[in-house]
Amino acid sequence: MAIPIRKFDAVIVGAGGAGMRASLQLAEAGFKVAVLSKVFPTRSHTVAAQGGIGAALANMGEDSWLWHMYDTIKGSDYLGDQDAIEFMCRMAPEVVYELEHFGMPFDRNQDGTVYQRPFGGHSQDFGARPVQRSCCAADRTGHAMLHTLYQRNVRANTHFFVEWMALDLIRDASGQVLGVSALEMESGEPYVFQARAVLFATGGAGRIYAASTNAYINTGDGLGMAARAGIPLEDMEFWQFHPTGVAGAGVLITEAVRGEGGYLLNKNGERFMERYAPTMKDLASRDVVSRAMATEIKEGRGCGPEADHVLLKLDHLGAALIESKLPGIREIARKFANVDPVTDPIPVVPTVHYQMGGIPTNYHGEVVAPAGGDPEAVVPGFYAAGECACASVHGANRLGTNSLTDLLVFGKASGDRVIGFLRQNPGHKDLPKDAAERTLARLERLQNQTGGENVYQVANDMRRTMQAHCGVFRFPDLLAEGVSRIREIAQRAARTEIRDKSRVFNTARIEALELDNLIEVARASMVSADARKESRGAHDRADHHQRDDVNWLKHSLWFKDGDRLEYKPVHLKPLTAATFEPKVRTY
Ligand SMILES: Cc1cc2nc3c(=O)[nH]c(=O)nc-3n(C[C@H](O)[C@H](O)[C@H](O)COP(=O)(O)OP(=O)(O)OC[C@H]3O[C@@H](n4cnc5c(N)ncnc54)[C@H](O)[C@@H]3O)c2cc1C
Repeated sequence: MAIPIRKFDAVIVGAGGAGMRASLQLAEAGFKVAVLSKVFPTRSHTVAAQGGIGAALANMGEDSWLWHMYDTIKGSDYLGDQDAIEFMCRMAPEVVYELEHFGMPFDRNQDGTVYQRPFGGHSQDFGARPVQRSCCAADRTGHAMLHTLYQRNVRANTHFFVEWMALDLIRDASGQVLGVSALEMESGEPYVFQARAVLFATGGAGRIYAASTNAYINTGDGLGMAARAGIPLEDMEFWQFHPTGVAGAGVLITEAVRGEGGYLLNKNGERFMERYAPTMKDLASRDVVSRAMATEIKEGRGCGPEADHVLLKLDHLGAALIESKLPGIREIARKFANVDPVTDPIPVVPTVHYQMGGIPTNYHGEVVAPAGGDPEAVVPGFYAAGECACASVHGANRLGTNSLTDLLVFGKASGDRVIGFLRQNPGHKDLPKDAAERTLARLERLQNQTGGENVYQVANDMRRTMQAHCGVFRFPDLLAEGVSRIREIAQRAARTEIRDKSRVFNTARIEALELDNLIEVARASMVSADARKESRGAHDRADHHQRDDVNWLKHSLWFKDGDRLEYKPVHLKPLTAATFEPKVRTY
């Protein structure tokens, strides 16, 4: 079947914060850039980000990029690459000021500077006391950021393809990336996007779990496409559970609530975080707070008739502060928990929120994979940024506000790197003859499959398996059983059937194609988690309680082919600063 081809200098898959920051670099430099998105750009999941962007602006007191760097490395439980972390923390103030100059409506102090609030794990003077580092627009920071970036991209003539779903990565025999195949959702027609460079900014994959703060579109498409094209996925065992999802609903209550002075209570009315983290208390890093909450619930100090949640108290902040700084939270609490936080505490539980792992990149946003004895050989023409990428700045646990920083810093840096590559590689290489073969085979299978299983049922079994076998606390028997279950479910996912075979805006087909990606992410996560025999950051094993730097201070690389695992060293050498040596992590 002949398939129409569209030609661009660069194609970016994803119109969230990372994708639009990268496209802005390219469009402003005069390149012809296409941005594909499953949804209208300002509906990308970045819109949901609430609490803020981490940057050491020092508007509220003393601060420095070095303290930010220390906090990020400690937060990552020493698995983060220190060169990438230094790069991010040094660049953070610059990209925030740029955003301000693009028109971002930040909250302000009396003197006109950007207001900053405290956030978990961020400190002054290498952990001595909490610092105010999160630059925010009330509790709608992502919303303001996404609209600012979209308007700026429209001004720069970025070419958006809205409601287009990228399906597969196109590589030639040498491994160079030459484009993507994609489905126009409205017509149901497949296309090839030929490009000299491809950048993935497809966001997270939190939908592999049953209880998640993530939107339905967060199906890990970039990771699935990369895995099918032979690229490994890095550190997929590390999934962040955010401490405060609304009990029963999963919707996020931002850490900014605790930053502004809210705190957690167990059924005895005890502020239990004082026991687990005497210095940072409720503002300890997320893995620490989530485990403390899970422990309180497990030991019978949970609240409610089922003793299955704890309470987030903020009524003492007063109605005026809640209305001005946390208006979105008041609305969420009323709608999803049926409580008004001005008078009553919000019932909360840890909920899956963020993937620390992803497509391996260096700090320029170039995708890297083992080749010819080099564990980090650059894959020519391929870039990734944002939550789908693993730079790795978050290591085993991300600090709140560092994802938006990551999007801005690495979105811009990868855009710059693509520009350099385009200047050195002026012509398009020929597409391989079988460029669209994998995609057409996937579409044809779905069209012709009979006697297959329902997509929703298979996806639901995957979500339940991830939730039960790979949660906040991990047990060896459950992990081992989880691996065989997820493999079985992957086989079922390859035989799903859709009843509706129509072409025009067929959401059943789209969900089936998304499941192909989700299942790769789920397999990668379960297999990597089962293999890592230590506890580090968000990965907490009952049979190996301690961090084991001798054997496990290394990144996992999962390959789809045969569920194979390889490992590569952590970059312990920063760009200019001295190494932060691994030590015991207390808050
Ligand atoms: C509720 C919530 C609150 C948060 N609050 C904060 C916060 O305050 N501070 C912070 O630092 N972090 C926060 N985070 C994390 C942060 O928001 C995300 O990590 C970040 O926004 C992800 O941005 P992104 O650009 O990588 O992806 P996204 O914004 O998720 O965008 C992904 C894009 O990829 C597109 N896409 C995906 N697959 C395909 C495909 N196959 N074809 C075409 N397009 C595709 C989507 O349409 C979308 O445009 C929060 C997360 C959640 C869930």
